[in-house]
Amino acid sequence: SLTASNIHLAFGNNKVLRGIDLHVPQGTTASVIGPSGSGKSTLLRVMNRLIEPDQGDIQLDGRSVLQDNPDELRRRIGMVFQQFNLFPHKTVVDNVSLALHKIKKLPKDQARAKAMEQLELVGLAHKADARPGNLSGGQQQRVAIARALAMEPEVMFFDEATSALDPELVKGVLALMTDLAKGGMTMVVVTHEMGFSRNVSDTVTFMDAGVVVETGSPDQLFSEPKTERLKGFLSDVL
Ligand code: ATP
Ligand code: MG
Repeated sequence: SLTASNIHLAFGNNKVLRGIDLHVPQGTTASVIGPSGSGKSTLLRVMNRLIEPDQGDIQLDGRSVLQDNPDELRRRIGMVFQQFNLFPHKTVVDNVSLALHKIKKLPKDQARAKAMEQLELVGLAHKADARPGNLSGGQQQRVAIARALAMEPEVMFFDEATSALDPELVKGVLALMTDLAKGGMTMVVVTHEMGFSRNVSDTVTFMDAGVVVETGSPDQLFSEPKTERLKGFLSDVL
């Protein structure tokens, strides 16, 4: 499980996270929704320690990770961004195998074999020798997911993984994320895709202005929102 407790973070005078709690049991998917600027991306960045919180704790499997080496934590958490961040001059298979070789220290042939397995799983083995620029956005995002999964993370973070995609490409990426969720991956998914949030995630957390306004089951949040803030947000996005 992944637990963030009472997370506070300010950029200068801007208090971006003001006491966030998020608990994600093993094998479940938590979606995080909320308006632009509410602190969703910052929360993910704090939880994998790209940014240190001013206050609060982050635990993996009941143990605080704030004393650990941040690089070690980042190996345990796979992250997929809106912009795929693939290396443009490397082939697809090299993009996936690079960290396996450099960070996991697998010999090159084993790293490549493992990368090919992951590409198989996301349906892109036939693109192994292509450059990212010759793939569609949806295919590039599936490569980015394969790259994260190849490292065998305990938890996966997705930050608006489908927001940069043309509408017709969104479905394939959401289908892959759905398979992962159903397969028992522990996931935190920041998304504007209310269908995914409602139908796939186990819990939904609605953030606004750096606080968790409501959290609960998809039915609770989507069918019976309690606060005016969530009601207003849902009427804007649905
Ligand atoms: P969106 O839905 O638009 O992606 P978000 O909920 O992910 O929004 P964040 O990106 O977490 O929001 O930003 C929250 C606040 O923190 C904003 O006011 C933003 O300007 C500020 N912020 C984010 N990153 C930084 C930074 N590196 N330095 C200073 N301020 C930042
Ligand atoms: Mg964001």
